[in-house]
Amino acid sequence: MPEAETPNYPKPDSKDYSVLLKLSTYLLSYKSTLLAAALALIFTAAVTLSMGGGVRFIIDEGFVAGSVQQLNTGALLIVGIALLMAIGTYTRFYLVSWLGERVSADLRQAVFDHLLSLHPNYFETNRSGEIVSRLTTDTTLLQTVIGSSASMALRSVLTFSGGLIMLLVTNLKLSGLVLACVPLILIPIMMYGRRVRSLSRKSQDSIADVGTYAGEIIQQIKTVQSYTQEDNEKLAFSQHVEDAFLVARQRIKQRALLIAVVIALIFSACAGMFWVGGNDVISGNMTAGELGAFIFYAVIVASAVATISEVVGELQRAAGAAERMFELLAVESLIASPSEAELASQPIDSLNTNLVFDKVTFHYPSRPEHAALIDIDLNIEAGQSLALVGPSGAGKSTVFELIQRFYDPGLGEVSLGGVNIKRLSPQDLRRQIAVVAQQPALFSGDVLHNIRYGKPDATQDEVIEAAKAAHAHDFIVQLPDGYSSYLGEQGVRLSGGQRQRVAIARAILKNPKILLLDEATSALDSQSEYHVQQALETLMRGRTTIIVAHRLSTIVDADLIAVMDGGKVVALGTHAQLLGSSKLYQRLAELQFRDSTREAPITA
Ligand code: ATP
Repeated sequence: MPEAETPNYPKPDSKDYSVLLKLSTYLLSYKSTLLAAALALIFTAAVTLSMGGGVRFIIDEGFVAGSVQQLNTGALLIVGIALLMAIGTYTRFYLVSWLGERVSADLRQAVFDHLLSLHPNYFETNRSGEIVSRLTTDTTLLQTVIGSSASMALRSVLTFSGGLIMLLVTNLKLSGLVLACVPLILIPIMMYGRRVRSLSRKSQDSIADVGTYAGEIIQQIKTVQSYTQEDNEKLAFSQHVEDAFLVARQRIKQRALLIAVVIALIFSACAGMFWVGGNDVISGNMTAGELGAFIFYAVIVASAVATISEVVGELQRAAGAAERMFELLAVESLIASPSEAELASQPIDSLNTNLVFDKVTFHYPSRPEHAALIDIDLNIEAGQSLALVGPSGAGKSTVFELIQRFYDPGLGEVSLGGVNIKRLSPQDLRRQIAVVAQQPALFSGDVLHNIRYGKPDATQDEVIEAAKAAHAHDFIVQLPDGYSSYLGEQGVRLSGGQRQRVAIARAILKNPKILLLDEATSALDSQSEYHVQQALETLMRGRTTIIVAHRLSTIVDADLIAVMDGGKVVALGTHAQLLGSSKLYQRLAELQFRDSTREAPITA
């Protein structure tokens, strides 16, 4: 389990709610819905407040006056108001929840789209579980907040303001009493709110930790079980879970305390009001209906304050979630597309595929002290093949990474057809290249989907054609569902050689000008290797090819061989030249390729 790394997000300079303002730009895409929701909100608040008039009418004109007819009218009035309230609430609830769902869906999409544009190093320094938690937990939190808490807060602000006005209109003296209580209630809300917010962020972080941990263990389940580490993992996981629980407990404690304080204050204030108002009714300064209406408004105002105090915590949690999402959206890819001025004038299709490394030195950003490539000069003519050989860690795969521009060199440049690849759009560049890795990555879709990844609009016939050329057709048709067999977690498992042939079919379909091959070392049996070799030969024909080579026959056939060691090219030449000139090559040829020499005749 790697140590938790600090994500390299830029530090937010936002105040509490400025992130919620940023959110509003997403909301503003739905102006008409927003307007309709606001109207429904105002309408419901107004109708709720008019209920106070109904209460006063039913008391004063109804039972205090002793008129059954007025009592009936009053009751009907209240039912009418209630129906309007129901209609308003339905509309408000629907529209506001719709907005919540819509905005969080949009945000999810925006975050995902942005993630796909980021440089690979970002995913090395930020744990995938944490990133996924932004997409799921944080957006879900926002959805509930926009869809319910925010609307509750808005509604409460409206009923609070309206209720307060009605209080003042109904009875000034009593209103003074209510107003004196308001700061008493607001102060603890402000104080605790801040604390709740920082705890919320901690709480979300620790939940992300739990997810990341579980994700890794599930992925590595075979290793866990074969080393019988279940008990240790349970223990380690329980620590993560308990940490998350402790943070959550602190948060809910603060919130519970906040709610308790507010309730105690509100109801004590209500008792005070009853006492003062009751005295006024007894002394004839106020009618019973007025007191009834006043108390109705006071309850409305009080419950609005209580609701605000409750949802303030939610809103602050959402601010935390939104903040983290906007931080992620603000991360800029280190692999930038060239600006209009820098963009190469020649279209990429017109460039020849002569690949050149000119004095390239490169350090991985996560290991700045260690040079992965040092002063590399390579020239691969269009249509020629270069074999990279060398001990493990020599930098062979790094050469592939730079050609695909997953990283930019620190010094020197990589060029294609005489143009620095930094001056090409990364997508255009990558469209020219296909990679066949040693352990090709397959998606959990079916075989068709996996091969079509090279050319999404390929017909089924084209896919089959490519699979045949990759010597994959025969084994694919024997799978339980042929080309429709699923390769994912629940799907069929392919052998190393079969996976490589699917990857080769994908590359054949992509029909790239440049090919990057990472030969399998020892994963393949000779039968499988024979098929892979045949497939590769088909694939390489006429393309500029760079191969991390492990087999003697591949190396012998290559136009040029670069011997790499410790990030440098230590020798360059053909097989025959290198056997004479490079000690390292001789040693590699003796040791590393000994096994493949045995198998070379098969592929000859
Ligand atoms: P192998 O034959 O074992 O695959 P290689 O010759 O392909 O080795 P590279 O993978 O290019 O070697 O690695 C070159 C150096 O860069 C090594 O020291 C390696 O530890 C380091 N390295 C590779 N990938 C990364 C990375 N993503 N972040 C940091 N360092 C890396």
